[in-house]
Amino acid sequence: MIKIDSIKKGIVIDHIKPGCGHTIFKDLGLHKVGYTVALIKNIPSIKMGKKDLIKIENEIDLDMTMLGLLDPNLTVNIVENGKITEKIKLKLPEKIKGILKCKNPRCVSTIENITDIEFTLIDPENKIYTCEYCDTPVKA
Ligand SMILES: [Zn+2]
Repeated sequence: MIKIDSIKKGIVIDHIKPGCGHTIFKDLGLHKVGYTVALIKNIPSIKMGKKDLIKIENEIDLDMTMLGLLDPNLTVNIVENGKITEKIKLKLPEKIKGILKCKNPRCVSTIENITDIEFTLIDPENKIYTCEYCDTPVKA
């Protein structure tokens, strides 16, 4: 177990697939922030063999939809006074809006350049979503 005593109040993103921590770190814009953040790579894990972990010494609004889409196996720990007060297990979002693009060239969203298309999850195992306008499946 990695100790989280270096963080008093903030967020720890746990169970990141080894090698994926960097992507999530950048996607969250953590490489640009002014508060304390840490990306720890290849921590030995009983469950996963190895894992990456991100510590954020700040209260921020995480986009759980985006995170769940990046890696549905993540755990987000909320830390207060050096203790985990909440554990959030992420999962693939049922519906996502404004993240995916429809791949059907004849779709009205492509023709009219609509960007906030809502996609609905139909195949969680393969991360397949369908477009609200034409039902074309898209892999997230
Ligand atoms: Zn479409």
